[in-house]
Amino acid sequence: MSQALHLHRLQLVDTQVDQFNTRLKIIQKKLAEDSAMRAATLEKTASDRQLAEAQLKLSQSEESVEKQVIHIQQEEAALYGGLVKNPKELKDLQDELAALRRRLAVLEDQELEAMVLLEEKQNQADQSLTRLRDTQEQAAQRNADLIAERSKIEKTVERLQSERQAIYATIPVDNLKTYERLRSQRGGNAVIEVIDKSCSACGATLTPAEWQSARSPDKLSFCPSCSRILYAG
Ligand SMILES: [Zn+2]
Repeated sequence: MSQALHLHRLQLVDTQVDQFNTRLKIIQKKLAEDSAMRAATLEKTASDRQLAEAQLKLSQSEESVEKQVIHIQQEEAALYGGLVKNPKELKDLQDELAALRRRLAVLEDQELEAMVLLEEKQNQADQSLTRLRDTQEQAAQRNADLIAERSKIEKTVERLQSERQAIYATIPVDNLKTYERLRSQRGGNAVIEVIDKSCSACGATLTPAEWQSARSPDKLSFCPSCSRILYAG
């Protein structure tokens, strides 16, 4: 088989893959543009963040209460341990303990508030998750056609990719490099069919010598005008 034929087959596969990928991008964009989904996702993200903040706040609050309790236990041990006998010192300890207990009551109130807040944020997060799932379900129904088309295209592209690999393996590296270079320079079309002894991409008419050369099985020939690889069938 001629080199140009292999490259032409590669070109046909690549063109199809390009077209399918373009369509996939459009489908992805349409799915991402679903405004209800976007709103539900944003709401879920926000409520998750608020939940995490509330959890942190409660942990900090619990830690403060714990520290305060330990501090009070230490002061109580000092007060009732019998080591301090001086009435002035005892009075100071009692005052300090009373102050620590008042502070503990404040911290415990804060802890309770943090618990209530956490519960509220947890409920919100649960609701956002339910809403997101409902929205996903509705979006899936709304976009069922797009999703089905996407999955069909993905399967086709997969098949084309293995077809491409098989063809690719039959082509010398130098020719592949030329092909890839031309593909990027010429809008994806590197190999072009010669129809009526003319380049079917740019319309240039081939001389008899160029036409003969384009039919050679061993070496590639190029359109004298647009430089694409010629495939003369
Ligand atoms: Zn041409």
